[in-house]
Amino acid sequence: MNNSLKKNNSQEFPEGMVPLGTSVFQFNCHPGVSCFTHCCRKLELFLYPYDIIRLKKRLGIDSESFLTSHVLVSQAVNPNFPTVQLKMLDNEEKTCPFLGRSGCTVYEDRPSACRTYPLERAVARTFTRGRPDEYYFMTHHLYCKGHAETRVWTVKQWLKDQQIQYFNLMNDLWAEMDTLFAGNPWQGEGDAGPRQQMAFMVCYNLDRFRQYVNEHNLLQEFDLDKASRRHIEQDDEALLRFGFDWLKFTLAGISTLKVKGPGQQ
Ligand code: SF4
Ligand code: SF4
Repeated sequence: MNNSLKKNNSQEFPEGMVPLGTSVFQFNCHPGVSCFTHCCRKLELFLYPYDIIRLKKRLGIDSESFLTSHVLVSQAVNPNFPTVQLKMLDNEEKTCPFLGRSGCTVYEDRPSACRTYPLERAVARTFTRGRPDEYYFMTHHLYCKGHAETRVWTVKQWLKDQQIQYFNLMNDLWAEMDTLFAGNPWQGEGDAGPRQQMAFMVCYNLDRFRQYVNEHNLLQEFDLDKASRRHIEQDDEALLRFGFDWLKFTLAGISTLKVKGPGQQ
């Protein structure tokens, strides 16, 4: 499995990587392939905030429990913010904890990387109609026999089939945060200081952030209409979007939120 890549404005890609564009590719994955579930082991499977929302809901546990039981935190990619990976089982094959006898047991809620494979996604820091430009590349792993199947796809068809568009939308919001964190916005506190811990909570421990929002009456501080406030109170994705806006506002002074004026209820 592969996580999303990042690309800068230079329009250059790592050597040997050619974006698929509108060309077609041959691939299929189904229980009949000889390699079925081979790719669900020994993975460096990076999880994004929306992946965690989907998985914790699927498992019926809160974000704190999910982090405790299923996550490895390391300083792998962004020098100024921890990286979150799915913890593989401690067995000989290091299998994914969600791999069952007949395949993925969380299939409808599987993470972004599992949906995108065998493609890799690169996101540019240039935008078209408000969305970052994206590029897809084909990966080839010798064990994966899906490339020998005859079904043909365009990238667009693949994304639709894997129902990944909404994941990408949420991941793009996350990518903005990752870029902000890469700029070391911790105001001298360094890594693992209170600001970074707060940011980690917003991104990955959403149920704990909900408690924080309630305990500190955080929504009351901002000029939000009643419907938006209720949506944030009740919906994880709305809370995550609010959390991102709040981090941009508090860490970088970006005017994503408006503080209530005197006398405003
Ligand atoms: S989440 Fe599902 S598809 Fe992804 S590695 Fe685990 S078992 Fe495989
Ligand atoms: S075809 Fe590729 S993606 Fe599908 S199970 Fe086999 S290794 Fe995994």
